[in-house]
Amino acid sequence: MDALTLTQVTKKFGRTQVIDGIDLAVAPGEFCVFVGPSGCGKSTLLRMIAGLEDVTSGQIAIGGRQVTDLPPARREIAMVFQSYALYPHLSVRDNMGLALRQAGTPKAEVLASTDRAADMLSLTALLDRRPADLSGGQRQRVAIGRAIVRRPKLFLFDEPLSNLDAALRVATRIEIARLHRELGATMIYVTHDQVEAMTLAHKIVVLRAGRVEQVGAPMDLYNDPDNRFVAGFIGSPA
Ligand code: ADP
Ligand code: MG
Repeated sequence: MDALTLTQVTKKFGRTQVIDGIDLAVAPGEFCVFVGPSGCGKSTLLRMIAGLEDVTSGQIAIGGRQVTDLPPARREIAMVFQSYALYPHLSVRDNMGLALRQAGTPKAEVLASTDRAADMLSLTALLDRRPADLSGGQRQRVAIGRAIVRRPKLFLFDEPLSNLDAALRVATRIEIARLHRELGATMIYVTHDQVEAMTLAHKIVVLRAGRVEQVGAPMDLYNDPDNRFVAGFIGSPA
């Protein structure tokens, strides 16, 4: 059974067609990267998978279950944004545990899960700090930790590294790859960075103006792009 299935998903904002009939299947444990130029619909597609945006037509299933009409909280997903979206008045510990507490998880269990995630991300020493007292890289690790704590079926990342400087971008990318291996989770990751796409993905989905231009394993796209647009985006030699 697929971890994620999109069937003829479309999105219109007013009269503008932003997503134009996307079909996609993502296998359990797969690391799937959406790439494409700015404005091609990557975030919109991710937000529809998350339930933050309604689909205009089409269907979305997560783990074989239809979620098209379910609110985000019932989709068993966790999303990591480019802007960390942490609560400034809460400690790192409480930011990471909030969703579980809101779901009524017993306090001891929330603490255990938070501690485990903090350990995986080297955040243990920072658990009592507030977001304002963290660096950008640390804040993004907290946002990733908050996603892990919820043990989602599907992780959704929307350009999570684009606010970090180059060195931190590499370090955090390696950390995300390690987490993917350790958790065995399915991840959908949006980026416009070729290096991120090539190094993280099992499968790359190249988007252009709301449509899938080509789907494939990184080296297959690199060696055998369908057209110049894909070649240009993947960085294949001309
Ligand atoms: P990407 O993430 O690939 O840069 P987006 O999904 O953010 O692209 O945007 C795709 C297109 O949809 C863009 O033309 C953008 O202006 C438009 N768009 C995104 N959100 C809205 C919205 N809430 N209302 C109207 N247009 C939107
Ligand atoms: Mg975007």
